Amino acid sequence: MKQVALITGGSRGIGLGIARALAQKGFDLIINGMRPQSAVSDVLEELKVLGSKVAYCPGNISDRNTHTALLETAKKTFGGLHVLINNAGIAPPGREDILVGTEASFDLVLETNLKGPYFLTQKISRWMIEQKETHPNSFYTIINISSISATVASVNRPEYCISKAGLSMATKLWAARLGEYEIPVYEIQPGIILTDMTAGVTQKYDALFANGLTLQKRWGTAEDVGRVAAAMADHQLPYATGQVVKVDGGLTIQRL
Ligand code: NDP
Repeated sequence: MKQVALITGGSRGIGLGIARALAQKGFDLIINGMRPQSAVSDVLEELKVLGSKVAYCPGNISDRNTHTALLETAKKTFGGLHVLINNAGIAPPGREDILVGTEASFDLVLETNLKGPYFLTQKISRWMIEQKETHPNSFYTIINISSISATVASVNRPEYCISKAGLSMATKLWAARLGEYEIPVYEIQPGIILTDMTAGVTQKYDALFANGLTLQKRWGTAEDVGRVAAAMADHQLPYATGQVVKVDGGLTIQRL
């Protein structure tokens, strides 16, 4: 049986970069996103051309019904699931100072970026434990895509930072719980990556890169993140559960 990976938010941006990298490694894929299948058919076709069997399962990741649908898709279409990549996430609808930000925005971002992936992980990891019992030589892996915002404070999007800091603790908690089953849990903290999420602030970051924000003076790409995720998913870091890899061009290296 080919290895099967579920990528939430795999229809564009970083998630698509990860999907491409995994397809190139020979994984079959379950892609989740918000849009209907008709809107992402080109992307699904591109992944199939790389050799993957691809199932698309749309739905909001903060909705428990989506979690059930994803599990059912994995069981019915593939009969197994080896890698869960919690990538789907949102920026706050508007950047607002911590002194005035709204409860509605806080709830939306926390539900999407933290509570959704947390309970999806609970559902999927239970099934991974079952699969591991029947297939002890198979590999199972969970990867959280958090952000440098898990540790870097931005007072104009505090709910985003808090959601990512929470997801970072979830990485440690799931690693601690699943270690005995040899199911490693990893985290990637991307820096400033060129996707639709950052499309509105390209001029701001172009200037910051030129002024030395990062050690590597360029935007990160979805491919940069995909390569790291593929190494984790492909069992290249087997004794490193709970670890964080920053894909940030050195942004978080403190300098004096
Ligand atoms: P994009 O906005 O480019 O893409 C978001 C993806 O997530 C899309 O596939 C979208 O689906 C899907 N999605 C959005 N909301 C939901 C939801 N509620 N339920 C299910 N799917 C959803 O984002 P990025 O690729 O930039 O970001 C991906 C992850 O990486 C996020 O968690 C983000 O916080 C994190 N990150 C991004 C950084 C960056 O600089 N871009 C930096 C650090 C972290 P659809 O296509 O259907 O809309």
